[in-house]
Amino acid sequence: MSTGTIISCPGGFVDGAEYAHSGAAVYVTNPATGQVFAELPSATEGDVDVAVRAAGRAFDQWSVLAVRKRGELLGRAADHVEGHLDELVPLLTREQGKTLRDARIELTKAVDTLMHYVGLSKALRGAHTPNLDPGIEGIVLRRPLGVVGAIVPWNFPTTLLSNKLAPALIAGNTVVAKPASTTPLTTLRFAELLTEGGLPPGVFNIVTGSGSSTGTALVTHPEIRKIAFTGSTAVGEQIMALAARGTMRVTLELGGSGPMIICDDADLGAAASAASMGRFYNCGQACLAIKRVYVFDSVADEVIDQITAKAKRLRVGRGDAEGAQMGPLHTAAQRDEVARQVERTLAGGGTLTAGGGRPQDPELSDGFFYLPTVIADPPHDAPMAIEEVFGPALPIWRVADLHEAIERANASQFGLGSSVWTRDLRRAREAAQRIEAGYTWINSPTKVYDELPFGGWKSSGYGKEHGQEALDYYTETKSVVIGSTP
Ligand code: NAD
Repeated sequence: MSTGTIISCPGGFVDGAEYAHSGAAVYVTNPATGQVFAELPSATEGDVDVAVRAAGRAFDQWSVLAVRKRGELLGRAADHVEGHLDELVPLLTREQGKTLRDARIELTKAVDTLMHYVGLSKALRGAHTPNLDPGIEGIVLRRPLGVVGAIVPWNFPTTLLSNKLAPALIAGNTVVAKPASTTPLTTLRFAELLTEGGLPPGVFNIVTGSGSSTGTALVTHPEIRKIAFTGSTAVGEQIMALAARGTMRVTLELGGSGPMIICDDADLGAAASAASMGRFYNCGQACLAIKRVYVFDSVADEVIDQITAKAKRLRVGRGDAEGAQMGPLHTAAQRDEVARQVERTLAGGGTLTAGGGRPQDPELSDGFFYLPTVIADPPHDAPMAIEEVFGPALPIWRVADLHEAIERANASQFGLGSSVWTRDLRRAREAAQRIEAGYTWINSPTKVYDELPFGGWKSSGYGKEHGQEALDYYTETKSVVIGSTP
């Protein structure tokens, strides 16, 4: 572990103020340099308990506020965060590794998502059924759940947090969030800014530390009514098993291996750009990234050439370097795992057309960099077809027709994102109907919209984020039948 000047911080944010955790130190590393630059104590079970109790006290006041008022408070707080993006952007780049441009895109989106639910707070309406029987009517009440635990990974620390925080708060819940142990700093500052902006103390609290210790303490705390989790399928399954005790609510946004189908009638240039962007954005570390391409045989050579050329042109560099288009992977372990997946795949066949190793530039040798990589024609049972590849490496397969493409797209345990490129409406409709995934983009880059529900099928998760639907996952309904006798 190489070290320079190390920032120390108390580790937690509870009841509207910094809170000093009492557990073992956790270190934060700059992925572009391999240097540790911050340390913070992790939350013990006792620290988690303090945070959950603070959220429980805040719930009593927050849950009874008018929805409109909750929206006003969250809106003002989000404005305050937006006013501090210049401070947050470099912090996110430093701890996560992404480019400054991508950090700004992420943080802007995190604020947008808060604002989206502020808007929805003005549009919430209930259900009423007259004349269930003569003189008898029904209404459906919606109640917040209580204290929600939000657990997020390191690839998009702030947007994945906002996806949970915004609907949870608007619905009247309070939140204790745990960021990944490697990306705690932006989240802590984000919480502090929301409080400075007027979000009441205790409504949003942060505990930091490892998943196995701090995360488990949050999941098993008896006063947590729901866990909103984003992360790997393996950990999601563990959380679902733990949640079975007490039938705790969970939503799980898990891994993905998004297929892209490129038909022979597609705009090949646009499809190749979307494949490159969809795979290499955020250094390939996105759940909904394009992780498998299936292209019709007759246009495959052209598509492979175009994607390869784009991969080779991408400027890899430190996230804070002028003109860098792709930063490092987040950790050395993550980089090594991607390198192994590429090697194991190539051992079975296929042609490496771009990348396949670390950059030669000595300035990048201490960071966790890996070149944008393209492999043409690997076997259909290659590791990269079966496993999630969480980094900048893209396998491309040739297929005979749409039928084969859809069959192969669906031959995966995952079902999160998917994409199809064609000018034929019948093909587009067929793909949208038959691909087993929570999202299908047709002739469109893989961008997620707050307006539309987002969530995986199969091993990619359970429940939805975004959209009006997300609010359903932060409330319980109660049917009330009202008779006519006074
Ligand atoms: P991870 O599951 O290892 O960690 C995610 C979070 O869970 C971290 O905060 C971690 O500390 C915590 N955690 C780990 N073990 C825990 C436990 N036993 N109990 C409670 N919390 C625990 O995931 P990762 O490797 O850091 O992130 C990458 C994964 O996340 C990929 O699989 C990716 O596809 C997935 N992801 C999914 C989405 C989505 O919306 N579907 C979005 C982004 C990332």
